Amino acid sequence: MRRPVMAGNWKMYKTPAETTAFFEKFRPLVENSEHCETVICPPFTDLAAAVDAVRGSRIQVGAQNIAWAKEGAFTGEISGAMIRAAGAAYAIVGHSERRQYFGETDETVFKRTLAALEAGLTPIVCVGERLDEREKGITKTVLVSQFTKGIADLTPEQFARIVIAYEPVWAIGTGKTATPEMAAEAHRMIRGQVWAKYGSEAVAAIRILYGGSVKPDNVKTLMAQTEIDGVLVGGASLDPVGFASIVNF
Ligand code: PEP
Repeated sequence: MRRPVMAGNWKMYKTPAETTAFFEKFRPLVENSEHCETVICPPFTDLAAAVDAVRGSRIQVGAQNIAWAKEGAFTGEISGAMIRAAGAAYAIVGHSERRQYFGETDETVFKRTLAALEAGLTPIVCVGERLDEREKGITKTVLVSQFTKGIADLTPEQFARIVIAYEPVWAIGTGKTATPEMAAEAHRMIRGQVWAKYGSEAVAAIRILYGGSVKPDNVKTLMAQTEIDGVLVGGASLDPVGFASIVNF
């Protein structure tokens, strides 16, 4: 039985004071939510406030990106050791906004994933096709390529420690959600790759999240798909009441 991961990606929203205020409302609402792992990924500048606010609860904190290098002359980057020392346990890697605006490639996704694993963090590795790619009917080709170049060089031991998020780019922040069937079909494509590379035990264990305009009113039908092992939520994770109702789907 795969334990769902209900993760929030705050993108570039909230100050430390707003982070503290969020958790004051959110914490009591998820205090009995033992059915899943609850993760909030705030901006780097909020990590300390978030870690402080979740202390003593089951909620975990993650970063939204991670440097591939351990340290050095990489202005603007934050290393895995720094994220770990701040008290976070997860790191999102390869989010489509990083691919679209900041030159992230499958190769850098792989390097960042390794860095997260080396630092003892759980990487949430994002994959997903753009609208033009779906319309051209090449969703599977894109997913296979992202898997092959960004994930498949992990050792089986490393692979066992990652979480994958399928996020169709056309559904992120657009209000358009993939239908549960579309999401499940993409998840099956990814599981097919996992099976071919890592075998049946890995297929049974790997958690694949869905992300893209998940809201309190669509989470239940998405989570009803046996292929979907949790969600990665952007906009709707900013509101404590709304995100708590997603966690408690
Ligand atoms: C995301 O940022 O990963 C995301 C899925 O955003 P949204 O839920 O706003 O579509």
